[in-house]
Amino acid sequence: MEYAEHVIDLVGDTPLVKLGTLAEGLSPLVLAKVEYLNPGGSVKDRIALRMVEAAEASGELRPGGTIVEPTSGNTGVGLAMVAQRRGYKCVFVCPDKVSEDKRNVLKAYGAEVVVCPTAVPPEHPESYYSVSDRLVTEIEGAWKPNQYANPNNPESHYHSTGPELWQQTDGRITHFVAGVGTGGTISGTGRYLKEVSGGKVQVIGADPEGSVYSGGTGRPYLVEGVGEDFWPQTYDRDVADEIIAVSDADSFHTTRRLAGEEGLLVGGSCGMAVAAALRLAKRLGPDDVVVVLLPDGGRGYLGKVFNDAWMSSYGLLPPDSTGATVGEVL
Ligand code: PMP
Repeated sequence: MEYAEHVIDLVGDTPLVKLGTLAEGLSPLVLAKVEYLNPGGSVKDRIALRMVEAAEASGELRPGGTIVEPTSGNTGVGLAMVAQRRGYKCVFVCPDKVSEDKRNVLKAYGAEVVVCPTAVPPEHPESYYSVSDRLVTEIEGAWKPNQYANPNNPESHYHSTGPELWQQTDGRITHFVAGVGTGGTISGTGRYLKEVSGGKVQVIGADPEGSVYSGGTGRPYLVEGVGEDFWPQTYDRDVADEIIAVSDADSFHTTRRLAGEEGLLVGGSCGMAVAAALRLAKRLGPDDVVVVLLPDGGRGYLGKVFNDAWMSSYGLLPPDSTGATVGEVL
């Protein structure tokens, strides 16, 4: 018999798949690392597990403790799953703009969700930053992972994502492409790949146009989970050799092509990373092996990227769109 003792033992060891259609006609082999196949549905399961284990080891998180984090997205799901299996409580603080569907996912894992008004500045006592800080001091045994400053975020990738890619490609990976949010993925994975290859692997960040990593000021963009308006501690500025800025339109069109032409129903930041990888691959040769990381699945975005009405409200519908939408079918 072959089975895992706990669902969290299934985090990591995600497969690589060739992007045969989207990269058709390009010289290098272009492979995607499919992180939505993690048990919580995203790359963030990796950091959740390592941050919790490190806090247990350091004594910051004790039996019966409570995890408090201002998140509504993938990190929340990863933390909620790990917390439930390890017997911790979870309180997530999120702004009221977060959809009810997303809040219900966290509640389904047994987490408590505290909703705060979006329309207040971060220093306001009711902002979700202030509320999460207050809860950490008020709740007995509370611990805040703080994914933007926790070194175990990049470390998790140094110890799992990086070695997996090196092994899976038999040491033939030449370029690694990832979107940058907290910077944990690119910093940890990139550092490992540079070290193990003696500096040969090139590391390329993909960033929404307007975000700080590609020289912007934080100008709004629609792709979720990537780009910042500040420089998080988890981002190592020495790792990326290049940052490619990608527009919302390019990100979302590529996301739709991944679903419609590769059978990969993934989120908008995946389309962004693949758009950057394809742009890079155009300049490379037949001996190159490009790996692009796909952080999460597309089901959380059916009302947005995959919905023609939503896309059209932002002027983002692809010019050749047939008008048939996932939204309509649903
Ligand atoms: N895509 C999505 C959907 C994410 O949730 C995140 C995490 N913020 C990223 C990409 C970027 O990963 P990282 O934080 O490791 O830079």
